[in-house]
Amino acid sequence: LHMEKADFVSLFHHIIDRFEMNMPEHIEFVRELPNERLYVWMDKDKLIQVMDNIITNAIKYSPEGGTITFKLLKQRHQIIVSIADQGMGIAYDKLEKIFERFYRVDKARTRKLGGTGLGLAISKEIVEAHHGRIWAKSKEGKGTTILFTLPLMGKKRRGSK
Ligand code: ATP
Ligand code: MG
Repeated sequence: LHMEKADFVSLFHHIIDRFEMNMPEHIEFVRELPNERLYVWMDKDKLIQVMDNIITNAIKYSPEGGTITFKLLKQRHQIIVSIADQGMGIAYDKLEKIFERFYRVDKARTRKLGGTGLGLAISKEIVEAHHGRIWAKSKEGKGTTILFTLPLMGKKRRGSK
């Protein structure tokens, strides 16, 4: 990993901007990001890879279109990032399996959409290497939200190294 201190908010905007430039017409993006800098100790390229996969999935598994909502919530010691779509959704009993290598829900349905089933397994490894967690919420036919946390870099206090 090539770790550096960087503002996650501007990185998130940058990635969303890049998708927005080549956006399919039937998808709308909504951003709910805070108006401040939030510093995270990160491997930028790796986190870009995580968000690229989550956003690509949100678009790919939303054949009817709809809104993709990007949120960033600041808590005391961490941020929670969420990316919500209004696509086909995932059955409750498969929600944990999607983070396994090569797992794809309903092979017949997703075969034509392409992919290897590695994206979320790699994303999980990367998020956990940053001491974060990743999970999914979904309702079949309604949509999916992928969430992950990352530890915030604390402000240096007197007496701490
Ligand atoms: P790859 O990312 O390797 O190109 P993939 O997209 O199939 O292939 P993952 O990103 O790991 O693989 O996702 C695993 C499976 O989880 C997908 O095949 C799909 O069935 C399901 N899935 C992931 N994201 C969503 C989503 N936003 N909506 C509905 N299903 C999803
Ligand atoms: Mg994928």
